[in-house]
Amino acid sequence: MAVTGHVSLVGAGPGDPALLTRKAAARLRAADLVLYDALVDVRVLKFARRAQKFFVGKRAGRHALSQHAIHAVMIGAARRGRRVVRLKGGDPFVFGRGGEEALALRAAGVSFDVVPGITSAVAAPALAGIPVTHRGVASGVLVVSGHDEDAFAATVAHVASNVVTLVVLMGLARSRALANRLIASGWSRETPAAIVVDASTPHQQVWRGRLDELASTESPIDTDGPGTIVVGDVAAMDLMNVDGQEWRDRREGQAASGGGAPRVVRKEASHVGR
Ligand code: SAH
Repeated sequence: MAVTGHVSLVGAGPGDPALLTRKAAARLRAADLVLYDALVDVRVLKFARRAQKFFVGKRAGRHALSQHAIHAVMIGAARRGRRVVRLKGGDPFVFGRGGEEALALRAAGVSFDVVPGITSAVAAPALAGIPVTHRGVASGVLVVSGHDEDAFAATVAHVASNVVTLVVLMGLARSRALANRLIASGWSRETPAAIVVDASTPHQQVWRGRLDELASTESPIDTDGPGTIVVGDVAAMDLMNVDGQEWRDRREGQAASGGGAPRVVRKEASHVGR
């Protein structure tokens, strides 16, 4: 008898259900079983009306289910003919262990597909008015994990400052140490920095400052939510609130005076989803 089960590795986007792709919504509607991670917004889960839903992520540092157990559950359910959605925050292949799951499914001979999602690495800065690249300001972007200080330092060691933008995921708890590592490896203390927390949710907050401020502050932003750190000249941009000319004037003034970007902590209502 043919096995008709299937697994979709689906990206849920940064939070706001309006940022879910149409394919992700369709997979959720058709699902029998949804296995979801900690950063998946509850509003997104509502699309999966008929499915059983299981939290398999990490909460307070403890895994609800080991990675191996997640593989076993997905494979077992698909072999029983069920349509499984493995739902991850942002994009499944950006620090989501989606690659490992794809390999496990392939090795087991289970039919699967990938539904890319909007990654917070790009969306969180964008929703704070920060373009990760900008002509004449940053010609590239490096997305790096801040989970492990040494791995972070090794990854950024050969990256020129003020040429590319650094986007640090999973780094909020260690922002101070990470900023010190950057300064130690030659990044200018005045480099603009920003932190965007709970992007695309009604609790979105933005902190703006400089690398040296980040390096001397234990927790620049008071939150339990996920946060994305942006380091580089683009982090001083605020395109929703400042027009281009004003920003250029500010930037030139800053370069002349050697002063830093204004520091702003803002709570913002979500732009959509209300
Ligand atoms: N696969 C996800 C990233 C997983 S790592 C993606 O593509 O977005 C988890 C990290 O993502 C968090 O530590 C945080 O740095 C970032 N993140 C996730 N959701 C976020 C949000 N709504 N706002 C800001 N950062 C977020």
